[in-house]
Amino acid sequence: MTHPIACDLLVDGIGRLYTCHRPGDEKGPRRGPDALSDVGLVEDAAVAAYQGEIVAVGPQDEVHRAVRLLPGGAYLDAGGRAVVPGFVDPHTHAVFGRSRPEEFGRRLVGESYQSIAASGGGIRASVRDFRRRDRRELVTLTRGRLREALRSGTTTIEVKSGYGLELEAELKALRVLRDLSGESGLPRIVPTCLAAHEFPDEYRDRRDAYVDLVCETILPQAVAEGLAERVDVFCEPGVYTVEQARRVLSRGMELGLDACIHADELEGGGGSELAAELGAASADHLGAIAPEGIEALAAAPTVGVLLPGTIFSLGLDRFAPARTMIEAGVAVALATDFNPGSNYCSSIPLTMAIACTRMHLHPHETLVMATIQAAWALRRPDSVGSLRVGKRCDLLVLRTETIDELVQHMGADEIETVVQDGRIVAD
Ligand SMILES: [Zn+2]
Repeated sequence: MTHPIACDLLVDGIGRLYTCHRPGDEKGPRRGPDALSDVGLVEDAAVAAYQGEIVAVGPQDEVHRAVRLLPGGAYLDAGGRAVVPGFVDPHTHAVFGRSRPEEFGRRLVGESYQSIAASGGGIRASVRDFRRRDRRELVTLTRGRLREALRSGTTTIEVKSGYGLELEAELKALRVLRDLSGESGLPRIVPTCLAAHEFPDEYRDRRDAYVDLVCETILPQAVAEGLAERVDVFCEPGVYTVEQARRVLSRGMELGLDACIHADELEGGGGSELAAELGAASADHLGAIAPEGIEALAAAPTVGVLLPGTIFSLGLDRFAPARTMIEAGVAVALATDFNPGSNYCSSIPLTMAIACTRMHLHPHETLVMATIQAAWALRRPDSVGSLRVGKRCDLLVLRTETIDELVQHMGADEIETVVQDGRIVAD
């Protein structure tokens, strides 16, 4: 006599279940084309959860034999359609005031991002706007954006500060994230301190003094209040040098934060090598990565996070050399880079479509990059990013029978139901 496992959520009738689990995933992020395209497919499948955690997953008849749905538990019939893990977006800038739509048009008729920045636009315009707004207003604005990300299937989202560039305004951004953390109907939030996003106007002629402020005041204060899990820096010619980036990341790591870096976005210059040297969790962008950077990342635990939506939105062509990186053994993941200027897009499905068409990836590869690989970039492979017993029950019931259709149907809303922590949060 067996004693079935109690569950309070049962999803069955799944035609294709993309678990995105592969033996060995617990040891490290995946490398190479074979591993990257393994979506862990199970046909005619079911998933059961209890108190937010997956208790059974696999062929439907096996799951039915193993579990007992408690009275009052939730039941979902997928009707033969596909189910995938909730998406993990490991790079966004979702806390801001107004967006900068006027720059979109200026850029597309020929002005460069750098020239718009030099005329007072870009990140510095967002900083002036952000500093003026109070926390309650920012909570409301950010909540709306995070809800939309959840509707597009993102159940875990990294969000950076970085439009404050002074102690109180940086803490304000991180406190907005704390205010929203755990709120129902929003993705799970992973907060990152990006006080080193740009140099504030008042420090433009004494940049090292601002690096001192970040290292000696802003980061320690954010950590003391438990407001950040990660530290980030914008390493690019004209912004933070490799030496300045090394100081910021080393200080953050010393304070117990995971490190990530904006590296080699438009011109490049050693950011990837620095990430590898420090054993950072991720190096992000990489459109201008050098062969030495690829070699360094391939030998490091660092995940290369690709953000093709930004290059697409900027109307540029310099996408990260994804295929070369994959062949070389770099562990790659995907993110939106959702932000008020260079990419106002929080949709992982649309980002997957751009990744496929512009970086020559297969839909299966982009699914793995937006789930378990992204979970590795956030150093949460034990709790999110794939569907297996013991992990959080975050999943999406699609309106299509395959993931390939979701990616091919660009811009269409093909997500029927979003389940987070075993509860239906969008339907
Ligand atoms: Zn970014």
